[in-house]
Amino acid sequence: MLNTRRLGRTNFEATEVGLGGIPLIRASVPKAEKIVHRALDLGINYIDTARAYGNSEAKIGRVMRRRRDECFLATKTAAGTKKKALEDLETSLKELQTDYVDLWQMHDVSTRARFDQVMKRGGVLEAARRARREGKCKYIGVTGHNIPLLMELIATDYFDTVLCVYNLAIDDTADELMPLADEHDVGVIVMKPLSGGIFFRLTKGRTKITPEAAWNYVLMNERIDVALAGARWIKDIEQAVRCSRHFKPLTARQIEKYTTAARALGEDVCRNCRYCDNCPEGIPVPQIMQLFDHARAFPYEWPKHRAAYQAIENKADLCQECGACEKACPFNLPIMQRLKQAHQRFSQPL
Ligand code: SF4
Ligand code: SF4
Repeated sequence: MLNTRRLGRTNFEATEVGLGGIPLIRASVPKAEKIVHRALDLGINYIDTARAYGNSEAKIGRVMRRRRDECFLATKTAAGTKKKALEDLETSLKELQTDYVDLWQMHDVSTRARFDQVMKRGGVLEAARRARREGKCKYIGVTGHNIPLLMELIATDYFDTVLCVYNLAIDDTADELMPLADEHDVGVIVMKPLSGGIFFRLTKGRTKITPEAAWNYVLMNERIDVALAGARWIKDIEQAVRCSRHFKPLTARQIEKYTTAARALGEDVCRNCRYCDNCPEGIPVPQIMQLFDHARAFPYEWPKHRAAYQAIENKADLCQECGACEKACPFNLPIMQRLKQAHQRFSQPL
């Protein structure tokens, strides 16, 4: 039996470790199916995906057609209008091979413009409320990276759950957001508990952060109801379950050691916290920063990164060097310099 926690007002007893669907995009269809089966076999009862995660929904759906009643199934829409959101939901249900999802989340409400798309009269939230009346979703949630906006949304009491970032390097949702969610009985789900594995890839010459340490840090926060384990391989989900079973709270000294080491990694890589995602020139700063880091880590995938960069409408050369993004970055990354490097690099001919 895995440890469970009550998911806020949904009253669902969720396993504290859930399956996160993003990395399934990169798994082959048979491998993805095995991962989902393995998660359910191990007792995980919470699965999260999104319309925006490529074929993740379709891969999960291949398992859901036989095992739907074994989990609380959550997906998301990033649609900007009520009509498009309802179309998204129909597609999600078809891909997931089910006639309802337990949780339908408003995906990535991290900017005021996106907030308005969701909350305005006739907006995406109305689509969600209609879907709930029609029994196509049981609960409505919100996800994002902008803490003040998420807190505003929690306070409206329209949302049953909130999905935010929490790990050894980024834990500022614990200060005010999680207590507010508690107050409103909103379930708290967290993403990126291992920061996409960056903690383990880039620890050369530094304090070694183990998966156990990273998981223990997340699981010791009792305000978190579910932490999503992104799994590209079966071993990823097995590791998360093992860490839940053998949970041991970190000591104050360990917390200091590991959080210091994890935060220092921010000097090297973008953590995709998206606090900088408000460029007056419309440059998608986090997206370019991530592409740049991926290209550094996986140089052989350069053509793919170049193509992704070329598809961006507002490229880095629009930067006016106003400095707003660097001011917003909690990790003091040299964003302007990296944007220049990214533009140079990704503009080279193939
Ligand atoms: S420094 Fe450049 S990229 Fe950053 S916010 Fe200003 S214009 Fe945008
Ligand atoms: S550049 Fe800094 S603020 Fe922007 S997403 Fe990356 S870590 Fe966050």
